[in-house]
Amino acid sequence: MNNIVLADKAGFCFGVKRAVDEALASQKGKAKKIYTLGPLIHNKDVISRLQDTDIHTIDINDIYRLEKGDTVILRSHGVGKDVINLLKQRQLDIIDATCPYVKHIHNIVEKYYNMDYKIIIIGDPIHPEVIGINGWCENSAIVLEHGYAKGKLPGKVCVVCQTTEKQESFKRAIDIISDQCREFVVFNTICSATGSRQSSAAELAAKMDVMIVIGDKSSSNTNKLYEICKNKCKDTFYIENHESIDEEVYSKINSGSFNIGITAGASTPDWVIDKVISKLKGDKDHGR
Ligand code: SF4
Repeated sequence: MNNIVLADKAGFCFGVKRAVDEALASQKGKAKKIYTLGPLIHNKDVISRLQDTDIHTIDINDIYRLEKGDTVILRSHGVGKDVINLLKQRQLDIIDATCPYVKHIHNIVEKYYNMDYKIIIIGDPIHPEVIGINGWCENSAIVLEHGYAKGKLPGKVCVVCQTTEKQESFKRAIDIISDQCREFVVFNTICSATGSRQSSAAELAAKMDVMIVIGDKSSSNTNKLYEICKNKCKDTFYIENHESIDEEVYSKINSGSFNIGITAGASTPDWVIDKVISKLKGDKDHGR
């Protein structure tokens, strides 16, 4: 008889859960069309559930073909002030599902930009969250990718970071800034959600005979969880949902009595995790 244990921290982070809940609830009382500006999250099951409820993904160039009163959902990554102004000008309804931790960064950036600080963002310049943050200082920020500066930095700066940035990049950037800038104010805006999922998965994987990591194959944080678990537990399997549990997994878990650990990326919803657990337990609805 196998024993199944779910990691303490697994699946949706607070900001992603909030965005998906708001999107799924948005149909109530809406007569007009509803869209998300960019894919809400990296998970095919969630995107197809949204499509089933007639909520579709668009990009910024599609805004011009929407009708007055249509709804646009802003995802947890957030957007720049210019995008919000454009949506308002087009008289579109906005559901702002920007994660409050990201919104906090927007507020810092806008405040210090208006106080004549040059904004520095530590992060990936092409990541939508960084592009959104930059949109609160008229796209004038200097972005330090991996914490490295390409040229001389100005004397008076306000520093924030992408919520998923690594602590080592943050520390590297702060060393450079403290050497070069005479006046600086620093906000460590790294979110603990990614780190806590990784340490929880590593802790569990070290104690388990088998680990199952659930998430979309395109999700970078799920790929990272898989690597971490594989490092601690050689029988680690990566699946997307209950339908992708394959013969390799079954032949392993049916070959003895095992402790099986489960973890899931920050973009994996509870209902996908529940179906996997239920199928592994051989429950009727999802049994083989
Ligand atoms: S990782 Fe953190 S900042 Fe990003 S959406 Fe989740 S809770 Fe919000």
